[in-house]
Formats: sequence, C-alpha cells, structure tokens
Amino acid sequence: MSEDLKDLVDNLHFGEKVARAEKLLKDHFDKFGDKAVVANSLGKDSMVVWDLALRVNPNAKGFIVTTPFKPPETIEYMNRLVAKHPGNLTVYRSNEPTQDIYKEDADKCCNIYKVEPVKRAIEEMDVDCWITGLRCTEGRTRTDYKEVEERDKDLIKLNPILLFKEREVWQYLAVYGVEANILYGTGLRSLGCAPCTAVTTSENERDGRWAGTSKCGGECGIHTRPLKDVKTEDAKEAVASA
Ligand code: SF4
Repeated sequence: MSEDLKDLVDNLHFGEKVARAEKLLKDHFDKFGDKAVVANSLGKDSMVVWDLALRVNPNAKGFIVTTPFKPPETIEYMNRLVAKHPGNLTVYRSNEPTQDIYKEDADKCCNIYKVEPVKRAIEEMDVDCWITGLRCTEGRTRTDYKEVEERDKDLIKLNPILLFKEREVWQYLAVYGVEANILYGTGLRSLGCAPCTAVTTSENERDGRWAGTSKCGGECGIHTRPLKDVKTEDAKEAVASA
C-alpha cells in the first residue's frame, strides 16, 4: 500500500471518510447519471456503499450477482433487500447448469458463476462507472487500488469506501441502522459462496475466503479481469481502418 493511501486510512476519522465517500458518489452520479451503477455483493462493505449511494441518489441502481452456491441465509437476505428496493436492484446469475467444480477448479467456477454474470450486468445495464465496496485493508490482494480507476477501457471503477477499516464498516452499519447478513453473527468476516467461506481470526478478514487452498484470501476475478468488451463503435473503427 502506498504511503499516501496508508496515511489517509490511518489519519482520516470516520466522519471524514463518510463525507469523502459521499462526495465521490455525488460527483460520479452527477457525471454518469444512470450509467453509474452499484455492484452489490450483499456483504457488509457493499451494504455500506449501497446505503451511501441511496442517500446521495435515491434513484441509484444496482446489480447483485448470485450463484448456486450462496448460503440460504444470503438468498433470503437478498430476496428481502430486492423487495425493499423494487426497481433499483437487478439480480444476475449464470445461465450455465450447476456443476460442483469449485473443488477442482475454483477459478473456473468463479469465472462461470461470478465474472460472466458481472460482465453481462455491465453490458445490459449500460454501465460506464461501476461502484464497488472494495477496501484497501481487507486483505493481501486489495492493497494497491485507488478510489477512482479505469482498468478497463471506458469503464470507470469507483471504490468510495476504499479507506474504511473493518471497524468503520461496522460503525457505519450501526450508526445508519443498516441490517447486515445474519451470517456475520457466526463469526464470518467476509461472505461468499458457502463452500468457499470460513471463519478466520487472521488480521486479514478475507483470509477466510477459499481457506486451505492456493486461492486463500484471493479474488473471484471481478476485480482482476476485463469486464467490458470494446465498444461497438471502436470495433467498427478498427474494422474500417483494417
Ligand atoms: S466462490 Fe467458490 S463456489 Fe462461489 S463461484 Fe467461486 S469457486 Fe464457485
């Protein structure tokens, strides 16, 4: 993590971090309108971002990607959340048949059931700016992100709570009365699919993800793989100039 980022994480207080997140969201909703969309994973961090987004823009839109392997508690939580925000949240899932391939090839499984539906959401919702709950203190794979990034051409990624510590996420949920998934009560600190989520007492809260495998504390791929295909106009230009 860069010294500048660490300095902000350690020295801004909770109120300053909330105000900074609100400003980032407002600036991007002003700039991108309905093309700024929240990716809601139903985890604690996403719920902070979703609540912030709705406070800044009551018409904010979001998408949820679910898989055949989500715990029943998460499905129930998702269904209640979607019913609470009719028209604001769209659920995406893979059209592929369910195959239990997470043991032999977790990367392939994540690609089929997570990355591909996220790509479809970005295409179908015509997203130019996706808004995530990514935080730089969650784990070893998340230390080098920025609050505003363009890793994919024509797709801005906004990480408005990048600076929040784990405690500040729970502080936000408590202060603003946002319900969290009941599974956090079991000791889990980072929620994913049932077969790939375990309790951890590690410093890094994501170390409970894919625990006991080489992917431990890693990524499903939505933050590391290209999500947006080259725009049609660009493709046409490429063909015309070929
Ligand atoms: S987290 Fe596990 S079960 Fe879920 S998509 Fe990835 S490998 Fe499959």
